[in-house]
Amino acid sequence: MGVIVGKSIFPGIVIGQPYIERKKKIDIENYKISSEKVEEEIERFLESVQKAKNDIKQIKGNLEGKINKEDLQILTVHIMMLDDPQFISDIKKGIKKEENNAEAVVKKVSNKYIEMFEKIADPIYKQRALDIKDISERIIMNLTHEDDIDSNLNGKILVIRELLPSELLKIYYSGINLSGIIMEYMGETSHTAILTKALEIPTLMGGNDIFSVDWGDKIILDTTSMEGKVVTNPDIKTLNRYDEEKNRYRNKMKEIEESIDKETVTLDGERVYLYLNIGGRLDITQVSRKRPDGIGLLRTELIYMDAVEFPNEEKQKKIYENIAREFEESQPNKPIVIRTLDIGADKKLSYYKMVDEENPSLGCRGMRLTLADKNLFKNQIKGILRAATHHNIKMMYPMITNLKEIIEAKDLVEECKKELLIEGKEFKENIEVGMMVEVPSNVMLADIFADYVDFFSIGTNDLTQYILATDRYSPIAEKLYDCYDPAVIRAINMVSSAGLRKNKKVSVCGEMAGENQAVIALLSLGIRDLSMAPAYIPKVRNLIRKIELSELKEIKIKLLKSKDSQEVKNILNEYLEIIEGRN
Ligand code: PEP
Ligand code: MG
Repeated sequence: MGVIVGKSIFPGIVIGQPYIERKKKIDIENYKISSEKVEEEIERFLESVQKAKNDIKQIKGNLEGKINKEDLQILTVHIMMLDDPQFISDIKKGIKKEENNAEAVVKKVSNKYIEMFEKIADPIYKQRALDIKDISERIIMNLTHEDDIDSNLNGKILVIRELLPSELLKIYYSGINLSGIIMEYMGETSHTAILTKALEIPTLMGGNDIFSVDWGDKIILDTTSMEGKVVTNPDIKTLNRYDEEKNRYRNKMKEIEESIDKETVTLDGERVYLYLNIGGRLDITQVSRKRPDGIGLLRTELIYMDAVEFPNEEKQKKIYENIAREFEESQPNKPIVIRTLDIGADKKLSYYKMVDEENPSLGCRGMRLTLADKNLFKNQIKGILRAATHHNIKMMYPMITNLKEIIEAKDLVEECKKELLIEGKEFKENIEVGMMVEVPSNVMLADIFADYVDFFSIGTNDLTQYILATDRYSPIAEKLYDCYDPAVIRAINMVSSAGLRKNKKVSVCGEMAGENQAVIALLSLGIRDLSMAPAYIPKVRNLIRKIELSELKEIKIKLLKSKDSQEVKNILNEYLEIIEGRN
């Protein structure tokens, strides 16, 4: 019996047969062609590109309505890449100049792009590298006609070093059912991870040395907690235990589904509010079923990332109005918090040259960047102010360091209002304005900031990285980056208390707001507003309905005395176990 641990991406318990895919390395032949055959070879290449595009379009068509619109965007990006004139022309030129076969040139040119993107220490470019790898493998498969999927894969747990999004979709559309996926590759926010969630396949990523393991005929994949686990060659006792676990998990899922239409209240009757974190688009079908209390975080940078140039005031107004209108169709009058542009560090725009910095996470990002480029900022403020005229829209600033920035932003908002008045445009005069709490200085001065803003939203993703001085994207520092660190817990408590004293609402919109253990901690610290990815809402609602707030007083005291994150997690897990048994 052996155990492999990794990060759970989509939850589930699967007991089944592994299918070990030592990643087919397509042997690409490299041969010379005569100069008369060059045009023919280019034609062969272009046909395979066309086939790749047609295949992706077909997959996209099949998936429409089945998975999130936002997730389908992955395929649009691949189609756009296959249309990229630079990429296509580099390969055509390569075939002509080197008089080599198309497969070899596609490989060479894509490797050049992949290497270039991989060198950039930014997850977005790392994702670009994966996208290129994906489309180039698809073109090569078309050229070599090696795209068959082994039907033996059906019903098995796929064990693979790395699975590309289009490979996963191809498997899905060939009618093959994967009962689970175990990958060595780690990429919680990668497109593959997004797709496994959309297709609801229990998945573990970041498993170590998966090819030096004796897999045997039967394995257990358990991704029900944050840290996922695979048991290889399980003995009878373990198998029996997991059979029971599987039943328990199935019942829990049923219970969550049944509580979807119930109120978000604790056992002692206190209402908790659950909001959505969304990017540029909104998936209405998901929203109406989940019944959120509003949109707690609209990350506008995704709208900017989708564009080819800065969207002007008019465009922004329309985008925000469309989102509000669509949302209000099923959720009338509920608030929508629009966060102003938060680019810099990991988030970049193709059409905006950022200043090169040694330490971009500590440099010109978020509010620092928009205050340095006032026109850019004013366009967005005006778009938001105008869209808010007939909608319950609020505005929120990211990455605030000091009060001066808030005051400067306030002056700019007033300037925008004056200009809109002169231009005769309708806008909301008394829009509520809040700030993200992402920088330790915000925590220490929360009572002071509270006098200048209408609400706080704690961005625990960044707050954790800045409190612990640990890059949130660095795999090396991964073990230190932990939102359950007592330092982060105390920081949240300080902000929550300041909000209470000053009568300002404090919500949490970092990823932790969607984690069961964290929900217990946050409620114990007085937080009643949680904003999360849509998928987590039913689960969190179900959990809240089992919590007795009076029981959390004791937990709060223990959490605030904890010495390390393990102690924090133990306290929370212990309570979680108690309440999970409640109906
Ligand atoms: C955060 O930092 O917690 C947050 C919600 O913002 P983002 O993840 O977009 O940086
Ligand atoms: Mg942030």
